[in-house]
Amino acid sequence: MSPFRSHMDRALAEARAAARRGEVPVGAVVVAPGGRIVAAAGNRTRELADPTAHAEILALRAACAEARSERLPGYDLYVTLEPCPMCASAIGQARIARLYYGAADPKSGGVAHGARVFAHPQSHHVPEVYDGIAEAEAEALLKAFFAPRR
Ligand SMILES: [Zn+2]
Repeated sequence: MSPFRSHMDRALAEARAAARRGEVPVGAVVVAPGGRIVAAAGNRTRELADPTAHAEILALRAACAEARSERLPGYDLYVTLEPCPMCASAIGQARIARLYYGAADPKSGGVAHGARVFAHPQSHHVPEVYDGIAEAEAEALLKAFFAPRR
């Protein structure tokens, strides 16, 4: 029944779809105030030949296009992996209210690791952050994706 879990399930489905396309399995979902999913995306950096085509960026772009606004106050973003600094910054720029993420990313994350974008004084907007949501599933997807490549 948990709405947290149901939205992360959709993000995980996007991550699985990304893996099937040969992309790093990360999925993101944007939820409007009231609970409607307005955008869902997985990584498409290879397909689009675009280093900025992370799941969060694609989901934010789609949600902003639907809202006809560059800001999404009151919206929530679910993503299966800790956002990188680029995505964390975009989440702040979009004025996302709550960020829910799954697996921690000590190597490339920018929320709890590395740049810690939201802890920086230059961060004009700081969402509420909830980590570890469906963490085990998100980690398992990433491990399964990278295991054959090692
Ligand atoms: Zn990113």
